[in-house]
Amino acid sequence: MENTSALLIRAMAFAAHKHRNQRRKDADASPYINHPIALANVLANEAGIADPVVLVAALLHDTIEDTDTTHAELEAQFGPAIAAVVAEVTDDKSLPKDERKRLQIEHAAHISPAAKLVKLADKICNLRDVASSPPADWSVDRKREYFDWARSVIDQMRGAHPALEQLFDVAFRERT
Ligand code: NDP
Ligand code: ZN
Repeated sequence: MENTSALLIRAMAFAAHKHRNQRRKDADASPYINHPIALANVLANEAGIADPVVLVAALLHDTIEDTDTTHAELEAQFGPAIAAVVAEVTDDKSLPKDERKRLQIEHAAHISPAAKLVKLADKICNLRDVASSPPADWSVDRKREYFDWARSVIDQMRGAHPALEQLFDVAFRERT
């Protein structure tokens, strides 16, 4: 039986490989893998979450949405529980962007407890990024819109994890 450290490191290596040619949208074009690692770090070290399903799903959370990774591949590599959480936080990229944004708000209350934790960490990390290293071409209005939309998503899952919600609220204070 694989131990938790080995599983986490295997997930990190898998995500690093899948995202190897991608960069974040900040001016420095940071390595993409910094973002999934940041989610896992918030969950484990700021919110004290130890559930490997949550931590591994955080490391893998953008692999289906942003790389050629399939649900079946995650199931084979990491099992059905982790694959299901990643699927729950994956947007349907065949839909227009505005529709995807609206559906995140609509679905947020109805996803599993583990998926809510990953979603909270994702929004915490993205608000921190928009505040400290935003996409290079974003206007103040666009940053505000992003903050407000993220808040609309998180407001649908209040009560899921008070400590993570508090971290979100602290990040939200940086709205300009
Ligand atoms: P995107 O969804 O394209 O960009 C935000 C996403 O990019 C984040 O959720 C994050 O997703 C990822 N990301 C990568 N690097 C960074 C970074 N450094 N900081 C923060 N996030 C990063 O853009 P929008 O959210 O703006 O979505 C488009 C919407 O914006 C449309 O619905 C439209 O209505 C609106 N819009 C507004 C404009 C304006 O000027 N006000 C102009 C154009 C569109 P992940 O965690 O998945 O990587
Ligand atoms: Zn993300």
